[in-house]
Amino acid sequence: MRVAGIELGGTKVVVAAGTGPDDLGDPVRIATTDPVATMQAVADALELLWPFDAIGIASFGPLCLDPDDADGLRITATPKPGWSQTRLAAPLAERFGVPVRLDTDVNGAALGEGRWGAAQGLRDFAYITVGTGVGVGLVVNGAPVHGLLHPEAGHLLVRRDPVRDPYGGHCPFHGDCLEGLACGPAIAARVGRPAEELDDAHPVWPLVGDYIGQLCASLMLVTAPRRIILGGGVGQRPGVRAAAEAAMRIYLAGYLQSPAFERDIVVPPGLGSLSGVLGAITIARK
Ligand code: ADP
Ligand code: ZN
Repeated sequence: MRVAGIELGGTKVVVAAGTGPDDLGDPVRIATTDPVATMQAVADALELLWPFDAIGIASFGPLCLDPDDADGLRITATPKPGWSQTRLAAPLAERFGVPVRLDTDVNGAALGEGRWGAAQGLRDFAYITVGTGVGVGLVVNGAPVHGLLHPEAGHLLVRRDPVRDPYGGHCPFHGDCLEGLACGPAIAARVGRPAEELDDAHPVWPLVGDYIGQLCASLMLVTAPRRIILGGGVGQRPGVRAAAEAAMRIYLAGYLQSPAFERDIVVPPGLGSLSGVLGAITIARK
């Protein structure tokens, strides 16, 4: 089934159509500006990709994913200027006359990795991105988890040793929650330079790995994913994944037992920069 996928990110949008990685073509990239201009450019890009049977959107949030909500599938109260209450599905459904499905960017990336990437064949796994923020997509029993809202596990509270890490965190809601401590801007605020400029030996990487390891331990205790994919600009830094794996095991302290622990639980993504848009394609096919 040929479907269209839209990865709607805070800085850029990626649009493509196809059945999967083999016939995706060159994804169209659009800068995320104000919602009217951005969604107009998305619709124009979709026009050129017509025909398709459905549209999937993997979006930054927070999102309303409740199909019974009178105001529709939309972005809710986002700090991103101008985007609060932007309806994402209905305008595209009206214009193209096909179903439009919406999920979080991280649930999308998880679903894409499950279908074509590092979690193929698994029904229980997680996708973590550590970049501008920290997001977690959770697949349990083959389905992305939604509850009253969608999970926001990037904001889990973690243990911080104020001697090792005096930085108080930058989350505007929680201060030193995981995102407040481990995302790229938190690293930059701690050391006074952009995270990507730090060399691989910088002590911030094992520190960040420790915090991500705490998240992984919590995920293991709550939904017991068989694999945890660690993506994002920070998550894919050399050493961070290994530090997170090691820290997860230290925090679990041998309490969980499984032959699966003989190999790494925390793995790199398999789809690279395409996981977002392929996730959107997967959302469309649901
Ligand atoms: P986004 O989260 O916006 O989708 P990224 O995953 O690239 O995109 O995250 C961007 C954040 O990650 C920025 O704060 C940036 O400083 C940081 N970052 C990006 N690449 C790297 C890198 N190679 N090493 C360390 N930090 C990085
Ligand atoms: Zn927070």
